[in-house]
Amino acid sequence: MSDAAAPRRMHEISDETHAVVDVVLDYARRRALYEDIPLDKPLSPRELSRLASGSITADGIGARRATALWENVLAPACVTTDHPTYLSFIPSAPSKAASAFDLVVSASAIYGGSWIEGSGAVFAENEVLHWLASEFGLPAGAGGVFVQGGTIGNLSALVTARDAARRSRREAGRALPDRWVVVCSAEAHSSIASAAAVMDIEVATAAPDEHGRLHGDAVEAVLDAHGDAVFAVVATGGTTNFGIVDDIASIADVTKARDVWLHIDGAYGLAAMLVDRMRPAFAGVERADSVIVDPHKWLFAPFDACALIYRDPGLARVAHTQHAEYLDTLTDKADWNPSDLAIQLTRRARGLPLWFSLATYGTDEYRAAIGYGIDLARRIADEIAVRPGLSLVRDPELSVVVFRREGWTLADYQAWSDRLLEEQIGFVVPSSHAGEPVLRFAILSPLTTFEILTDILDTLA
Ligand SMILES: *Cc1c(COP(=O)(O)O)cnc(C)c1O
Repeated sequence: MSDAAAPRRMHEISDETHAVVDVVLDYARRRALYEDIPLDKPLSPRELSRLASGSITADGIGARRATALWENVLAPACVTTDHPTYLSFIPSAPSKAASAFDLVVSASAIYGGSWIEGSGAVFAENEVLHWLASEFGLPAGAGGVFVQGGTIGNLSALVTARDAARRSRREAGRALPDRWVVVCSAEAHSSIASAAAVMDIEVATAAPDEHGRLHGDAVEAVLDAHGDAVFAVVATGGTTNFGIVDDIASIADVTKARDVWLHIDGAYGLAAMLVDRMRPAFAGVERADSVIVDPHKWLFAPFDACALIYRDPGLARVAHTQHAEYLDTLTDKADWNPSDLAIQLTRRARGLPLWFSLATYGTDEYRAAIGYGIDLARRIADEIAVRPGLSLVRDPELSVVVFRREGWTLADYQAWSDRLLEEQIGFVVPSSHAGEPVLRFAILSPLTTFEILTDILDTLA
């Protein structure tokens, strides 16, 4: 094919390219700077087929029409997860700087997997990881990588832990168990069971106390029962449903005495450790072998990013580095290659939006914004406790408040929740605890106010 015939329309800089980039960036600017961003709601497959099908054609419909379709039909069919009235699951609340810089990451075609390709990006991501590691009390040699989410972070950490256990036992001439066991609380996140299924290992659950908190003695009992088969214990730094922080210090006493890997799942809650007055609740994190925290949750970064940090990143490198002839030029060097530390190869430099936001606003703003959510949760919990017909299921520890409306069944909660979204008042889906349907506010955004929450409580009267 001659150069003249090369199909360059999608890549060359032309008037059309200028128009395409302009129409997209104009929309992105409008979206990022909306004052009164709508909450929005899902449409059914049938409605979307009627309104939005037919966009993939042989000749293309053009950037203007495609952007209009997105802005007018598809985007409003996505719930705005950073809306101040989005209080379900774990919301997102990316800072404006972080969201804006995500556009730069996209515009720049950066490969975040290796030092020789992405050294500047990898350096900036490492600045953030080292800052987090020092906040968590981990030693100077600690390091890691931003992966897609907490699920992949937990899986990658446990794969490293099992690999390290295998190696050290082989070196010591000890037998390997028929089936490895990971120990966690009955309250641990579903991703631990999912990781265990992928790894084809057993989960042994240890019983938390009546407040949902796991302690070292319960872990010790499970370790006694499973002996040598246990390679790791997972402690949770803030459960998703309630924000409960396990008694990490007493669990660390047990894992250190038995030479078992300690992993902290802090996907949601570990961010609270950045708030000074919350630090005592997380005592023991500094003794972990690996930790995760999701910046796309409480560190105000856009989807999707989990910071996975190892005490000894060398163990992760041994467990995860992929070897192939075409990669030898990377893996034969002593460079810091983020790809080697988790289950992944090609990776987006997904830690950059957080780096830029931290660099822009400074860490104090983060501490204050996280502290605000904790204070607001406490304040609305006190309000719920005094409102007739409402009661708290448990006192909030972090920024999740779980409560009930007396006399309501799951169907009542669901109908109320549907109406709340339909009327665009808020997004609060029912949850359940010990078989009982309950309501739950998960508060992350500094734009969520006490008035927003009391307005929602008013609709429960
Ligand atoms: C959200 C969460 C996860 C899973 O993280 P994803 O980013 O959704 O994969 C794991 N553990 C805890 C405690 C969580 O809150």
